[in-house]
Amino acid sequence: MREFAFVRPTNVEQAVELVTGDPDAAYLAGGTTLVDLMKDGVLRPRRVVDIARLPLREVIRTDHAVTVGALTTMEELAAEPVLAERAPVLREALLAGASTQLRNMATIGGNLLQRARCRYFRDPSVRACNKRSPGSGCAAVDESARMHAILGAGESCIALHASDLAVALVALDAVVHLQGTTGTRRVPLTEFYRVPGSTPERENVLEHGQLITAVEIPLPAAGTASGYLKIRDRASYEFALVSAAAVLEIRDGVIHDARMGLGGVGTIPWRAPTAESLLRGARPGTGVFRAAAASAIRDTFTVPGTAFKVALARRTIERALSTVSGGTP
Ligand code: SF4
Repeated sequence: MREFAFVRPTNVEQAVELVTGDPDAAYLAGGTTLVDLMKDGVLRPRRVVDIARLPLREVIRTDHAVTVGALTTMEELAAEPVLAERAPVLREALLAGASTQLRNMATIGGNLLQRARCRYFRDPSVRACNKRSPGSGCAAVDESARMHAILGAGESCIALHASDLAVALVALDAVVHLQGTTGTRRVPLTEFYRVPGSTPERENVLEHGQLITAVEIPLPAAGTASGYLKIRDRASYEFALVSAAAVLEIRDGVIHDARMGLGGVGTIPWRAPTAESLLRGARPGTGVFRAAAASAIRDTFTVPGTAFKVALARRTIERALSTVSGGTP
């Protein structure tokens, strides 16, 4: 790891100015992404701006929403009683997303900005990685891949977005609050991430120096059922092969509203609007769940090591819908 300057600003505005004004500066919060990548030589900032002590660590509740400061830890948010009552999908995704030790360090903002888990991206000795070195190619497409994306992927990059939290948040229509040197803005999480296209190095809409300050999470109407199903190689801490976040409002035996997020399959936390359209107005049942799953997993881009995810993702969606609607898992 090369030498770097370490600074600790005293307020958000100062932090944003420091990073915006220096193309070689990076934010440090919980450290669970940046420190790993610096040790591996993937990221080499000359200045590290420590924001961990800034006052962005509170949870504000109203009847309709929870607004979470970006420096709130995963564990602190998971412990909020309102989640168990109104948004179990979010609590389950947080608990499935990391070990207890990591949840006590990792922040909500940092989790949303975690970098690709692609082993080629994290190994600077591998030359071909368009995300790390634009224009160099993609070793995952040309060599072997397994923990990679099948939706939103292409020849340029098939890296997954590995956050479980973000999958639940896209299903809940969360909104991120951003601050830059020119002011603040709010961006729906469904519009925050970018699929790789021809610029895999651009993963979201943030400009250099812009900071996530909070995440606003609308709470589903009382009586709405939700849940998160994560399929992985082992039951202890592991990234998802496939996951599904389902939010279903069922009235008088009919699905009044449906929202779905998918993980382990997309280059971004994936929302499934066609599946949601099929579900709305239908009675819960195997037929409509199977049709919704098929519509959610189409137009895939697979390589030999990821082709298994097509069937696995469809079965995962069916099971998540069945469980959340009260049917047989
Ligand atoms: Fe790099 Fe993306 Fe290819 Fe992985 S999948 S090697 S991150 S370009």
